[in-house]
Amino acid sequence: MIQFEKVSKIYPPSGVALKDVSFKITQGEFVSLIGKSGAGKSTLLELFLREEFPSEGRVLFQGEDIHQIKDSLLPDFRRKVGAVFQDYKLLQNKSAYENVAYVMEVMGANEEDIVRDVSEVLEIVGLLDRAHHYPAQLSGGEKQRVAIARALIHRPDVIIADEPTGNLDPYHTRDIIGLLVKINELGTTIILATHNKEVINRLGKRVLTLEGGALMRDEERGKFMI
Ligand code: ADP
Repeated sequence: MIQFEKVSKIYPPSGVALKDVSFKITQGEFVSLIGKSGAGKSTLLELFLREEFPSEGRVLFQGEDIHQIKDSLLPDFRRKVGAVFQDYKLLQNKSAYENVAYVMEVMGANEEDIVRDVSEVLEIVGLLDRAHHYPAQLSGGEKQRVAIARALIHRPDVIIADEPTGNLDPYHTRDIIGLLVKINELGTTIILATHNKEVINRLGKRVLTLEGGALMRDEERGKFMI
């Protein structure tokens, strides 16, 4: 489903962010990405989100080189890949409901579909009762739930989560990771970049370890070693 083929990323003049990285992820996997600060985790995710282009190698998604996708087909790619970040990236002047609905409005969806789909994803993340709260009225964990609902709105095949628990206490961290596990069990592939040792060790799922831009380990049931 996702394949990195000998991918390198160099930021001139001499910054090597990724070195000859190759791996495959199949549909339905839950894969964590770990490594010290500067190891290349964000660069890897940015390449997959098509925010950056590789210096060498290819990134394939469902058999297609994502850096060769025609502009006319980009919206289709964007709908298949949801993303969640440490800082939530919510619009402060919109309620939880409106933050999610907005994504459909800009795509030109009709009101009836918006009401149905937004309610459905808010229910999945357990936030129906907070639908009309603004970000400032929500806890960190709830804000991340809104961001996850927004990432789910187009029923993506994969969700990229870049340090989604970075600003959360242990209770909300477990809560958000539990939600990602539930979404994964419903069939969505998850790629989770994290620094959190407990998260990795409790998950007991596949772990890719980056060191200095190189993929040092790829373990089926990884433990946090660094
Ligand atoms: P991580 O997410 O694991 O902390 P990054 O992917 O952010 O690592 O960074 C990997 C390396 O690439 C670092 O040495 C970083 O300084 C460098 N790097 C990342 N983005 C840029 C950029 N836009 N310009 C120059 N160097 C960058």
